[in-house]
Amino acid sequence: MAFNIAIDGPAGAGKSTIAKTLAKELGYVYVDTGAMYRAMAYYFLQQGIDKDDEAAIIAAADDADVTIRYENGAQQVLLNGENVTASLRTEQVGNMASATSVYPAVRTKLVALQQKLAQTTDVIMDGRDIGTCVLPQAQVKIYLTASVETRAKRRYKELLEKGEPADLEKIAADIEERDYRDMHREMSPLRQAEDAVLVDSSEMNIDEVVAAIRGIAAEKRG
Ligand code: C5P
Repeated sequence: MAFNIAIDGPAGAGKSTIAKTLAKELGYVYVDTGAMYRAMAYYFLQQGIDKDDEAAIIAAADDADVTIRYENGAQQVLLNGENVTASLRTEQVGNMASATSVYPAVRTKLVALQQKLAQTTDVIMDGRDIGTCVLPQAQVKIYLTASVETRAKRRYKELLEKGEPADLEKIAADIEERDYRDMHREMSPLRQAEDAVLVDSSEMNIDEVVAAIRGIAAEKRG
């Protein structure tokens, strides 16, 4: 059976940075499930669909074929055969992903793809519902979080480094709104699985978080 590590937590807690680093170290495949929701959202935006128009979302979700492949160890997301990876990390796509990930038509399709990937491959998968819903049997479950203030500052710094405009207050407000939506949706809301280990990265740097999770995984792998 494949070894699965699930990392859940709110936006900006550092999940993808940590998961990527550990996946490389352990020789596991890193699966970024947020990118899949973003690819769907990108499709809805392209089609000019309103986030509240559930009927249109259901129909469009059926037409959107999301698959992933790996290039030099990096996950690439294909939308109807086209590599859209470079277009997914914008605030607009992120907000649309958060708004449309509430729909069962979107979730059911992506969860099936995620489960299939983890069945035969050792993975570190990050998202919101991996430990609770996608891989309830995962051998290691981490709930990685940090304060809103810390997460907003990290995102702010990231945008400035990329030379993009950034407004700290607006970023914090967006994070709070996204947290609320992710935690209060009806289908598989973001929450810590009962058997997940809580890691709060507010006062930790990347190396410290990686070391903590490495230790937890090593214990379980024996
Ligand atoms: O992690 P990322 O910011 O890329 O995720 C974008 C959005 O996709 C999240 O705000 C969340 O609403 C949704 N998502 C989800 N379940 C996952 C991963 C992401 O609902 N497993």
